[in-house]
Amino acid sequence: MKIAELSWIELSRAALEQNVAALATIAPGKMMAVSVKANAYGHGLAEMVALLADNKKVHYLSVHSIEEAEVCRWAGWERAILLLGPMPADEAEAVLELDLEPVVFDRATLERLGRLGDRAGRSIKTHLKLETGTNRQGIGERELTSFAAVYKKHQSLRRPYGASTHFANIEDTIDHEYADYQLAQFRALTGTMKKLGIGPTIRHTASSAAALLFDQTHFDLIRPGISVYGHWPSRETYLSYRLGGGKNNILRPVLSWKARVTQIKKLAADEYIGYGCTYRTTSPARLAILPVGYYDGYDRLLSNQSHVLINGRRAPVRGRICMNLMMIDITDSSRVRLGSPATLIGVDGDQRVSVEQLAEWAQTISYEVLARLSPSLPRLITA
Ligand SMILES: *Cc1c(COP(=O)(O)O)cnc(C)c1O
Repeated sequence: MKIAELSWIELSRAALEQNVAALATIAPGKMMAVSVKANAYGHGLAEMVALLADNKKVHYLSVHSIEEAEVCRWAGWERAILLLGPMPADEAEAVLELDLEPVVFDRATLERLGRLGDRAGRSIKTHLKLETGTNRQGIGERELTSFAAVYKKHQSLRRPYGASTHFANIEDTIDHEYADYQLAQFRALTGTMKKLGIGPTIRHTASSAAALLFDQTHFDLIRPGISVYGHWPSRETYLSYRLGGGKNNILRPVLSWKARVTQIKKLAADEYIGYGCTYRTTSPARLAILPVGYYDGYDRLLSNQSHVLINGRRAPVRGRICMNLMMIDITDSSRVRLGSPATLIGVDGDQRVSVEQLAEWAQTISYEVLARLSPSLPRLITA
């Protein structure tokens, strides 16, 4: 592939297919809703839709906002879409127009949907979000009665199609007691729904960590995000999975990030590099400039911390990450030329810079490193 871009993201179709297949094997016979919120975890929403469109193992996409759902439809997604986030009052009609299945957690929204659906003579598949202990979105036991009344009042609603919840403490620990507690709460609440005459057709609770670790969270549908992109939710999840006898190498990162050298210069000893004069050479050095900065999603905390790969070797970042530029030390890579590609995330020869490593350096989680990749970077699909 000939790439003219100065900085770009590559998406591996094979890696994505491997990850989806692995998840389908872990939850056999269950439906799968792939989370594509946050610009598909920074991978590019339209590109991910294109990659997933012909994958029959994926039944749903789940999005946070109506705008994301619009992009999914525009990019050609014809199957179901789960809307996870809140919707502005004046955008409820989009649920009908885009044929979405909203996850509902407030009564005003449910009533609005009921009225719109009744008027249009359409039925709407809603999913009730149940509060089991995360204390984010979700409704508790006492509110269920009033929700049941709204369901029964509207022909377009009748009953929730789904019931769902989300775990609070399943990624960051190898102690899964709180997840067990939440699961018990979920079972109790769906039991109450049934007694109230609003029993759900399907139930779903499992993000990646739950899907990978606990079969009993799978119910009818799993909702993985990060694992589809080839990343473990956390080291703890990976450890728990391996301690439970899970196979190695089931997930492969889909995304790589590359940029071309746009300038090279020679420095003498005792010269400063970049804003704040935070780096000073101790001997003559060769420096390359890359057209990537914190605007693109390369965290400023990586200043003087990280390295990129170039010609299969590590090239340390020198000085502070700028808004649009960064400087790397190529003293030991004599073959680097103007236009040489550097790998900011991904593999070059036997070296890898992982999203997880960048997250550790930048004191955050892989989710944030990915989600912050600028939507304006070109995304290229590779085999
Ligand atoms: C984002 C999200 C997921 C996916 O979580 P991962 O950890 O990325 O697998 C699942 N369910 C809900 C409600 C979410 O918001």
